[in-house]
Amino acid sequence: MATGKSTVGRLIADQCGRAYVDIDTEIERSTGRTVAELFAERGEAAFRALERAALGRVLDAGGPVVVSLGGGALVDRGTRLDALDRAVVVTLEATPEEIMLRAGDTTTRPLLAGTDARARVDELLLARRLTYAECHARVSTSGRSPEDVARDVLAVWRRDPIAVAAGEDSYSVEVGNDIAAERLPSLLRGASLGLLVTDRTVRDLHGDAVENAMEQAGVRTATVVLDPGEEHKNTASLERIWNGALVAGADRKSRFVALGGGVVSDVAGFAAATWMRGVSWLCVPTTLLSMVDAAVGGKTAIDLKTAKNAVGAFWQPSSVLCDVRHLSTEPTRGYVSALAEVVKTALIGDAALLDVVERSTAALLAKEPATVAEVVRRCVRVKARVVSLDPREQNIRAWLNLGHTVGHALEAYGGYGKLRHGEAISLGLVAALRIGERLGITDRALSDRCILSLRILGLPVDLSGQPLSRAVDLIGHDKKRAGSRLKFIAARAPGQVEIVDLDVRDLRAHVLALAS
Ligand code: NAD
Repeated sequence: MATGKSTVGRLIADQCGRAYVDIDTEIERSTGRTVAELFAERGEAAFRALERAALGRVLDAGGPVVVSLGGGALVDRGTRLDALDRAVVVTLEATPEEIMLRAGDTTTRPLLAGTDARARVDELLLARRLTYAECHARVSTSGRSPEDVARDVLAVWRRDPIAVAAGEDSYSVEVGNDIAAERLPSLLRGASLGLLVTDRTVRDLHGDAVENAMEQAGVRTATVVLDPGEEHKNTASLERIWNGALVAGADRKSRFVALGGGVVSDVAGFAAATWMRGVSWLCVPTTLLSMVDAAVGGKTAIDLKTAKNAVGAFWQPSSVLCDVRHLSTEPTRGYVSALAEVVKTALIGDAALLDVVERSTAALLAKEPATVAEVVRRCVRVKARVVSLDPREQNIRAWLNLGHTVGHALEAYGGYGKLRHGEAISLGLVAALRIGERLGITDRALSDRCILSLRILGLPVDLSGQPLSRAVDLIGHDKKRAGSRLKFIAARAPGQVEIVDLDVRDLRAHVLALAS
């Protein structure tokens, strides 16, 4: 309320040559009543329904437009997540004092009229804290001109970030080519120290550029270098980071920067979760797997000797920067192996992604930046949508395990390291698709289509060469099993999966049938 949404919205629309829609005006036009009359005659709930419908019409109409929303328009979480998925949502913030100054005659404002206006402003800001936090970016308007604010909002829109809605821990993921050096300084600003955590291989390839960018932020920086590889996703690496933080004098306002693949982001994220009971961290993933999967969702962990990811925490990063330029140095086997997660993601939530993969296989394999950026962006959007609906993996986040039940068993049977994770997932996807057919959920044509894509991408798809009958005993040996039942994920259509509650023995029988 009174943060200048209409003024700033109009300025942005002028500057980028787009139409401008004020939802309040739209409602007044369509109902022939003023907002104050609608509140008085029909009540707030009815007004919110009108708001939702008006926003839905604007989003359905397509084409970029600039929309300003009433302060309560996104209080309903379903509406908010829909808006986050289909638009760039920027929260304009102001202090309660500034809101009171700008609000002018509070008797004309339905939510303030007839109350102690100042107390009501405080109350509304508190009640809507989570609503306003779940956005692509928050821009302060206090003491700033509308032109300044419009410039910041436009810059957010041009970056086209993807939002992960996680209450007050919400954040944005940015995807692009060569964006890290440009974006890191502003993302570090305000921190007392930037602690770069990377591994030796990545440091030698990309460390200097990132350290230089961090220094541009004008904050003190320090670097901790880990040994590369899954075998170092352990307490020794964690301790190395803690000690590095101690020596550098890291305090609660320090920000860790994880630069590397999934191992670095898992360990550095866990170190951030535990240092001084939790400091903020930026994630700069450098492998395709970490961009499309590990960097988004806030799962951090280390391995114990015989148990992968056994100790960890949910701890969301404050920002994720997927700079596809970093992928130019990623070894081919790891890169190709991550393409299995891309096919999995398409099956879970983006039918068009499957078309992109089929249409642009050569460009994808050649790491053509625009194609890779589009694929990463689509994968991140699907994961962000799932994580936003289920941040703590209590229900639909299980969708992300498509192909993992059998994949993990094969990976574990070979001993972690023999098959790459993505290669195991490729085989796991083949198994999940064929088992889906046996359960009457997956269409044969869909299985054949996906298996062909995996094969063309250079991923293993031949189950007959795999030790299924021996690996089968490892199925269900993970933490996602409940008693003798297991949540098996089956593909219904491109972009649509479902959870099937299966007895582990039945699932094993299906797998054995595939082996014969
Ligand atoms: P990784 O981090 O071990 O990286 C693989 C290798 O590539 C390493 O040797 C690394 O030094 C090197 N490397 C990284 N980036 C490079 C680059 N740009 N150029 C050259 N070399 C580079 O492995 P990964 O495949 O990225 O991630 C696997 C890990 O991610 C596993 O531990 C897995 O458990 C975890 N993971 C976590 C999540 C999650 O939600 N937290 C999701 C998926 C996977």
